[in-house]
Amino acid sequence: MLHIDIPSRKEVIEKAKSEGKKIAAIYPIHYPRGLFRSFDIQPIEVWGPPKTDTKKANAHLQSYICSVVQSGLSFYLEGYLDVVDLIVVPHSCDSLQGLGSIFKDFIKPKQELVTIYLPREKDRENVEFLSNELKRIYRQLAEFCGFEPNDEKLMEEIKKEEEIDELVGKFYRERKDLLLSSREFYTILRSREYLSPDNFKSILEYTLLNASKVKLKKIGVVLSGLIPEPMDILDVIDETDGFVAIDDMACCMRRVYGKGNSNDPFEKMAERIVNGPPDPTKGNSFNERFEFLKSLTEIGGAKGIVFYNVKFCEPEYFYHPILKEKLSSAGIKSLIIETDINEPISQQTITRIKAFIEMLRENER
Ligand code: SF4
Repeated sequence: MLHIDIPSRKEVIEKAKSEGKKIAAIYPIHYPRGLFRSFDIQPIEVWGPPKTDTKKANAHLQSYICSVVQSGLSFYLEGYLDVVDLIVVPHSCDSLQGLGSIFKDFIKPKQELVTIYLPREKDRENVEFLSNELKRIYRQLAEFCGFEPNDEKLMEEIKKEEEIDELVGKFYRERKDLLLSSREFYTILRSREYLSPDNFKSILEYTLLNASKVKLKKIGVVLSGLIPEPMDILDVIDETDGFVAIDDMACCMRRVYGKGNSNDPFEKMAERIVNGPPDPTKGNSFNERFEFLKSLTEIGGAKGIVFYNVKFCEPEYFYHPILKEKLSSAGIKSLIIETDINEPISQQTITRIKAFIEMLRENER
């Protein structure tokens, strides 16, 4: 087994603090990493975390709010984010928009609160809208940090992210030939949520160079949804002699952006996000999502798609009926599973995944 030393979040925060950097806790989904880094701010993403006691958040939230937001708020209220200097809440969906309002109007955190309004659809007006929104955030960060990075510094950080996105693309393309369990693969990939770009890049390069190469004979699936949490889902798939060949997850593939064309750093950052992979929270069309999922099955050599949905996540559920129908017409089998990131995977879910992979295997014979 390949040994890779990935620092913990705590170690990354301590190191960043010792270097005089500020820390930003970033809620899901899309944000410009390079913009924060150009201010010497270390982004640490908060996707839940899973298995959080959500009692404290329940006083602020309706019972039909998803577990990602429940955990994210509880995590703050329990004091786990006391160490951070900024809280960033992108308005990715109604629940996260609500979370932003709770912070702003009720909690009034001691940290600097940054919200990001994200446009929908891929067009020129939306690139312009987001570019202006990023300029607003730049001014807020400049006031908070007491300095203004120039365009050169911004471009340098953006280009680092572009290079890493290319490398992540290679990691995905080679995945089916790498002797890594699904948990190992996603532990590496998701360390981008808190590592510095240089550290993450060196871990990816090391893995690509040193992981054993084999043609995996297992049944590959595409995992679609927000996050692979609880991560036991990955073990369940592997134990059934399957593996996650590629994904359509908000924390991973949906944030592997293409290069921006503009020479203006704000426009370039906006282009990357607006023109990125289709995402339910960006309101992309059914057809675009269908074509994207179809292409993922081809790239990953996957035999089916597992939609792994967080309970009460409206953006994801909105697409299912039509997507499932389109996939089925194209001969692509899919399975919809519901999850609460704070609860263990149920026996029923395990049975359904096993049956699904077994069915895909039968179809192969
Ligand atoms: S799981 Fe869905 S509803 Fe919850 S924060 Fe994510 S996108 Fe929003």
